[in-house]
Amino acid sequence: MRRDFWKKNGLAVTGILCLLIAWQGRAMETVTGQESVVPEQQEARKVALTFDDGPSEYTMELSRGLKERGVQATFFLLGENMEERREMVEQLVKDGHLIGNHSYHHVQLNKLSKEAAKGEIEKTNQLIREWTGEDPLYIRPPYGAWSQELENVVDMIPVFWNVDSLDWKLQNKERVLCCLSGQVEEGDMILMHDGYQSSVDAAFALVDQLQNQGFVFVNVEEMILE
Ligand SMILES: [Zn+2]
Repeated sequence: MRRDFWKKNGLAVTGILCLLIAWQGRAMETVTGQESVVPEQQEARKVALTFDDGPSEYTMELSRGLKERGVQATFFLLGENMEERREMVEQLVKDGHLIGNHSYHHVQLNKLSKEAAKGEIEKTNQLIREWTGEDPLYIRPPYGAWSQELENVVDMIPVFWNVDSLDWKLQNKERVLCCLSGQVEEGDMILMHDGYQSSVDAAFALVDQLQNQGFVFVNVEEMILE
């Protein structure tokens, strides 16, 4: 009877014993070892929130709310929307956000001549440079349309996205949240737009949700340099 038991369950019992020994060894290590062992699941999971097409009348509320939540986001600004909004751009920087370029007229850059594309990018860079004192390094090409040729035209890093909130289309906080829910993973770049109240509300709710799940928000630069 006993032999039968071991025959049938010997492997399983041995496995459990090994696990117990290993666990005890680990526990001893934790107590006596000098190195602190941080379990993997407790490490910060980084995500980046990016906002295109601004600034707009909703940008300041968004910037303030993100700051209150300790979130640094990246704003890819549109030159034509920046005009007359210098204070907003300055405030974005004060609130700790990173500023990038989204062209001047929201054009598909790879369809333009080299000179025209360069002009679109440079005109917006000039405003950013003049108002913030910083030369922007990152560009989000409208429609994600980029080309190798453009890399040679400007000395900037194109930044795309892998999670699209579709906020411009849905224009509804709950639907945007629903679209993003369960989709976000470590290392994601989330695309949103700061031109809608619903996007601002959805961004705050998303940040609250993801921070509760242990996510940490970083700007695009920090994400890329990782
Ligand atoms: Zn855009």
